[in-house]
Amino acid sequence: MTELLPAFSLRHPTSIEEAIAIHGSAPDARYVAGGTDLIVNLRRGIGDPETLVSLNRIEDFQNIADGKDGGLVIGAGVTIANLANDVTIRTRYPALRVAAGEIAGPGHRETGTVGGNLCLDTRCVFYNQSQWWREANHFCLKHQGEICHVAPKGDFCHAAFSGDLAPVFLVLDAEIEIAGPDGTRREPLSALYTGDGMDHLTLKPGELLTGIHVPANTPPAAYEKHRVRGAIDFPLAGVAVALTKDGDKVKTLKIAVTGTNTSPFLVEGLEAFTGSTLGEDDQAKLADIVQKQVSPMKTTLVQPFGRRRIAGAMARRQAVSLLAGG
Ligand SMILES: Cc1cc2nc3c(=O)[nH]c(=O)nc-3n(C[C@H](O)[C@H](O)[C@H](O)COP(=O)(O)OP(=O)(O)OC[C@H]3O[C@@H](n4cnc5c(N)ncnc54)[C@H](O)[C@@H]3O)c2cc1C
Ligand code: SF4
Repeated sequence: MTELLPAFSLRHPTSIEEAIAIHGSAPDARYVAGGTDLIVNLRRGIGDPETLVSLNRIEDFQNIADGKDGGLVIGAGVTIANLANDVTIRTRYPALRVAAGEIAGPGHRETGTVGGNLCLDTRCVFYNQSQWWREANHFCLKHQGEICHVAPKGDFCHAAFSGDLAPVFLVLDAEIEIAGPDGTRREPLSALYTGDGMDHLTLKPGELLTGIHVPANTPPAAYEKHRVRGAIDFPLAGVAVALTKDGDKVKTLKIAVTGTNTSPFLVEGLEAFTGSTLGEDDQAKLADIVQKQVSPMKTTLVQPFGRRRIAGAMARRQAVSLLAGG
């Protein structure tokens, strides 16, 4: 008989310390927040942990509070819906609201969390399938199999990171706070990702994300995603742009992309646009720079070439719009 879910014991710690202790006492334990990603995978036979450590009853985990440096500290357990509806987020960081409002469907946003979104498993059309489908296709390198169906000659997993919030946090220079058996640390969000679709987070065993620090004076920013179904879907490409200006010229420009590579990433080489009015030639150059650093593989049913061009076009459009002041 097919089981809906593997058997596991669900623990409900009320503090971070207790969560880490429980995780440490059960070797294959997994943290679970909203469960909108993890539980779906477990139902598909991806993973079989004996213990799930719920983060939902941890005090302060669900708060959005003022940071010591004038910025904001967003608890990792804040739901996507609460993030999108928070008045401070809506007024001070509207790009975060846009990205949050476009994640999954309303029910997912009520339970899915910011921490879960940043730690989302990577995705691939050969991986996000039922057990019988994957078994019929001899599984794949990322789980239970021996070859990658996307790049069969290699030993690397190209599954794409597809969380919507990460690119916005990246262009806003957000930092994450991590707690674990060896204490706490704070680091740039970019340090969370390894670049390997198989094991995509740098978190050590037992470590968890506790909060995200967003600085006080962030530049105007925007987020746009492209997806197959407008009502509910992961990004085939998602682009965040932050831009400051000096008169009608670019002063600083940051672009980050999700949905295409194994990690969300900041586009490099954008200093070249300082002082630019983003005329036609520079717009074409900008789109080209983005396209060259975006490297989607055949991990979705949509062709990589199209996703690359779309990412470039979205970056160009948003940069022009922000420079025009909109
Ligand atoms: C139909 C559908 C559509 C979706 N569409 C989108 C979409 O468009 N965009 C998008 O971004 N996502 C989408 N998602 C994925 C998901 O709903 C969201 O990304 C959500 O924010 C995940 O949060 P969660 O709390 O439910 O994560 P969980 O499922 O609880 O956890 C996800 C992973 O993160 C780990 N984790 C959770 N919290 C922490 C923490 N604090 N520290 C360390 N590890 C942690 C878990 O162990 C697990 O590995 C979709 C999901 C479904 C089912
Ligand atoms: S990229 Fe390859 S190894 Fe990774 S999930 Fe897809 S098929 Fe599996």
